[in-house]
Amino acid sequence: MRAYNFSAGPATLPTEVLTQVQEELLDWRGKGVSVMELSHRGPEFMEILATAERDLRALLAIPDHYRVIFCQEGASAHWDMIPLNLLQGRSRADYIETGYWSYRAIEEGRRYCQVNIAASNRRDKFCALPSFEEWRLDPGAAYVHYCSNETIDGLEFNWIPDVGKVPLVVDMSSHFLSRSVPVERFGMIYAGAQKNIGPAGLSLVIIRDDLLRTPAPGTPFLMDYHAQVLANSMLNTPPTFTIWVAGLVFQWIKRQGGLEVMDRQAQQKSELLYTTLDRSGFYRTTVKPADRSRMNIPFHLLDPVLDEVFLREAESRHLLQLRGHRMSGGFRASIYNAMPVAGVHALVDFLEEFERHYG
Ligand code: PMP
Repeated sequence: MRAYNFSAGPATLPTEVLTQVQEELLDWRGKGVSVMELSHRGPEFMEILATAERDLRALLAIPDHYRVIFCQEGASAHWDMIPLNLLQGRSRADYIETGYWSYRAIEEGRRYCQVNIAASNRRDKFCALPSFEEWRLDPGAAYVHYCSNETIDGLEFNWIPDVGKVPLVVDMSSHFLSRSVPVERFGMIYAGAQKNIGPAGLSLVIIRDDLLRTPAPGTPFLMDYHAQVLANSMLNTPPTFTIWVAGLVFQWIKRQGGLEVMDRQAQQKSELLYTTLDRSGFYRTTVKPADRSRMNIPFHLLDPVLDEVFLREAESRHLLQLRGHRMSGGFRASIYNAMPVAGVHALVDFLEEFERHYG
């Protein structure tokens, strides 16, 4: 039996995709080898990569003047690669602080430039997004960086800031492909794989052509976005297996009906869970309703003394990895694209039963 896995990442993958991987693992399309054993420069892998990019472009309607890069680094590496590639001789960049991951980007950005924290919700304890009227943007900034879904704090932007001509750079790691987005509003989008894309070991970049320039002197060659584009994401050996599985996930999303269906299900699943949590006086959530994430839902018991019991009983029902991040404690249910609606029903049933028993 497959458990319902609420991990924030590496996260649950569609069972259909895992079954396909299993079926094709030893003998990919009659070649007598697995994808892991194919040369990355051979026609088979080139086709896998091209198909993955084509499917991603179709899902997100990526305009022609944007390039896609399959990066070997995790999402964190872009906190360095963004200033190295996008500062282009400027000394300042705007960053929006909305929680743990955007803060980490700020910390790293400070190694390269003068970081202007144009807005922050730190004083609100990361419980609500700073409203756009409060943003103090610097017209001379090289770019504006923000994180559109805070995986730990459970905040999600369902709006896109209008920052004028300054390129908007967004970390979409934990809600990538959960809704359609107008790519042309962004200079660059990046996302780590291990949530809505596939296994860990990959991140994706979607970047506008005009931002691809020679990076700062001393930039390691693998961190040069322009060089990666020119080399078709193959400056060195790419993570071929992960890219293959990511491509299978894109095909799975297409078969489900595309991002419209992912969006509808995200709405349905998160509403189900929040409604249950809100109805109860036994559980507590902290994020302002308008800014709640549909992917990562942190919650607490009013009485944390029962935390371990909760986790043990959840696990005995095959509801796994609900422990909250070590920074915030409590619990967190990550309900990415691959989490079936039935998984959220099972969680909700358990929450109600636990409350009846211990409440
Ligand atoms: N950004 C966000 C929003 C994340 O959730 C994470 C990881 N959970 C990261 C960045 C860092 O990703 P990685 O571990 O792939 O570097």
